[in-house]
Amino acid sequence: METRHTPLSVRLAAIKENGRLRLHFSGIVQGVGFRPFLYRSAERFQLKGFVKNTSAGVTLEVEGHHLPEFVRHIVRHSPPLSRIETLRLEEIPARNSKEFAILESDTQGQKNVLVSPDIALCPECRDEMAAAADRRHAYPFTNCTDCGPRFSIIEDLPYDRPLTTMKGFKMCPDCKREYESPADRRYHAQPISCPHCGPKLKLLIKGKPGKTEPLTGALTIMKADRVLAVKGVGGFHLACRAVSQKAVARLRHLKKRERKPFALMAVLEMIRGVCRVTPKEKELLKSPAAPIVLLQALPGNRLGEIVAPGQNRLGFMLPYSPLHRLLIEKMGEPLVMTSANRADEPIIFKDNTRELPKLADAVLTHNRPIHAFADDSVLQVFEKNIYFIRRSRGFVPLPIRLSFSSPETVLALGGMLKSTFTLLHGNQALVSQHIGDTETTSALAAEKQAIEHFLKLFALRPRVIAVDSHPAYPNRLLAADFPGAKVIEVQHHRAHIASLLAESGETGKVLGIALDGTGYGDDGTIWGGEFFSGDLHGLERVGHLLPIFLPGGDAAAREPWRTALSLLLALPGAEKATRRFAKKFGPKGDQVFEAIVQRRGGVMTTSCGRFFDGVAALLGLGERNSYEGELPSLLQAVAEKARPQKQPYPYAIEKKGGMLVLNILLAMEAMLADKKSRAEKARCFHLTLAHGLLDMAINLTSASGIRKAALSGGVFQNTLLLRMSRDLLQENGFQVLRHTQVPPNDGGVSLGQAVLAAVKYRKEF
Ligand SMILES: [Zn+2]
Ligand SMILES: [Zn+2]
Repeated sequence: METRHTPLSVRLAAIKENGRLRLHFSGIVQGVGFRPFLYRSAERFQLKGFVKNTSAGVTLEVEGHHLPEFVRHIVRHSPPLSRIETLRLEEIPARNSKEFAILESDTQGQKNVLVSPDIALCPECRDEMAAAADRRHAYPFTNCTDCGPRFSIIEDLPYDRPLTTMKGFKMCPDCKREYESPADRRYHAQPISCPHCGPKLKLLIKGKPGKTEPLTGALTIMKADRVLAVKGVGGFHLACRAVSQKAVARLRHLKKRERKPFALMAVLEMIRGVCRVTPKEKELLKSPAAPIVLLQALPGNRLGEIVAPGQNRLGFMLPYSPLHRLLIEKMGEPLVMTSANRADEPIIFKDNTRELPKLADAVLTHNRPIHAFADDSVLQVFEKNIYFIRRSRGFVPLPIRLSFSSPETVLALGGMLKSTFTLLHGNQALVSQHIGDTETTSALAAEKQAIEHFLKLFALRPRVIAVDSHPAYPNRLLAADFPGAKVIEVQHHRAHIASLLAESGETGKVLGIALDGTGYGDDGTIWGGEFFSGDLHGLERVGHLLPIFLPGGDAAAREPWRTALSLLLALPGAEKATRRFAKKFGPKGDQVFEAIVQRRGGVMTTSCGRFFDGVAALLGLGERNSYEGELPSLLQAVAEKARPQKQPYPYAIEKKGGMLVLNILLAMEAMLADKKSRAEKARCFHLTLAHGLLDMAINLTSASGIRKAALSGGVFQNTLLLRMSRDLLQENGFQVLRHTQVPPNDGGVSLGQAVLAAVKYRKEF
């Protein structure tokens, strides 16, 4: 982007009004209507010359008058989906061209064209679908050069129909005419089709074709409060009526998902009925990426109680594909639209799976294959900026620009939960779509397939493989696919901090604060509340949260009541109270009590996520996490109901083994004795942690003079904690870095792994 503005005006000042210019554009300039746009612009300025796609982008030559004005025009008005990364400009001798022509693509040489993400239905296509006389009226596969599937249907580059999953559909004469006409909106729109020649819908009930027209049949299923699987852009969704307790209960039963909130799809007017929508949130909902945006729910709405019990936010997206649009329009109400998968495995995107019929009462599918899966992206707005929870469809595979260039290609395999991988080459990091939890063989197979797709698209071969330092993460096995590549281990929480440094282009020294669930530490214990000092060349651990005992290890992550017992028992003189609390859980409670006393059958951890678990359970918000982070998210939701608190609970900073240790266990005693409401206590706990972080930051930087704090890790999905910590740090002179391009959670870990491995490789090998 930087080459688009200031430098350009300087360069334009130096060129002549009349003559011939050659321009090279790179970035997202293919498959987004860029050439027809240049054609129309040249006609408008009455210029002669030509335009053509090259393997490096687009080359344009123009001859005539008002050249600087023409260049300004194209830079300012380039098509919405295009992204000009660089623009090279040279004056060349005139050739007296007689016309303006679009020349054949020149596809030699290295592939360095960016691949466009999948793009939501554009307003023009939407209007065509709505117009009764249009030949694409109510056509569920309408698209044009401004919209439609891209990443999910591209098998290889160059982006041409035979290399997409549309290759099996022969264009009818009408579509062909549009495709070949430079003045048409569908000029070279590779997924172009119409009801005569394009993909067709199909409804399957119990694996057999339904008797009615597919869309009508699908609506009947949903109207009867049953669950419909729908093939979308990057995979299948499970859809049902969101306002029906019965339908949502059926979906929870089929998906085996007890309480986890579901994503919703609706048009903006419906969303406004249940949520507050700020201008920025509206802009994001309507953006070409069309992500799920977490919105503040209006108090007392029934829909929220059904789809997201206990939460004060609802995740909504607009109908982003033509098929979704038809479903929402005809149902006339919000629908649950959740990824079709088992637990947190990768989304189902192939038709021939045996799983789908088990997850839904009927399947609405079609015969346009999905080549690459992509779950919906999920984000929230934090102070008018994107704050990702999941970066996937609509954003992938756009690169993240780095402040340095790596001569070696690095493949980083990510963590185990909410996994992504990253391919780093030159100054670009390509962070993959959301893969999911990679604990099962099917999930690993999905990651492997997605990696192969990226390597093919971008014609890369990794020389370095970055993996989590946890010796038992299953995705380490994928490194074996690249014999000869150097495998570099990266500690989980350093990767979190590095991902933030990478996306923000930060090269100076920072204090990195990683508050997270759990990750494997240098010493073989479980970390998750860590302070690091340094930069991408080295992040030294300088502090951590006071370790707590997790009875049952991983079991405690599912059953936070165990952690609550452990926190309670650590308080002075709390043995009796702890025994009473343990009684609530029967014989198991007694066993866990004994285990804590004897420090057996568990692990010590500095995890901040587990601490939140324990606090939420102590405040009576629940005993189990039916999904990852359930109780911590309820703790945030309840805290947000309370008025701001002034005074934090007591905490201490202790020195141990050359490190500073933040003891917030001390706060527990005060919190339990506090007579305030539960919401106020929850809020005060957040405030205490934020004060603790500030004190740690002041102490840990007093010698080095570092003035920047980088906040990352899954706990910082909690925007209440983020805001409190940010405010306190800023008031005390720190510049605070936070994520805007990748999630603070484990979805960002692969980016951090990739940059740390690239730097280490350059230094050591
Ligand atoms: Zn369109
Ligand atoms: Zn057609």
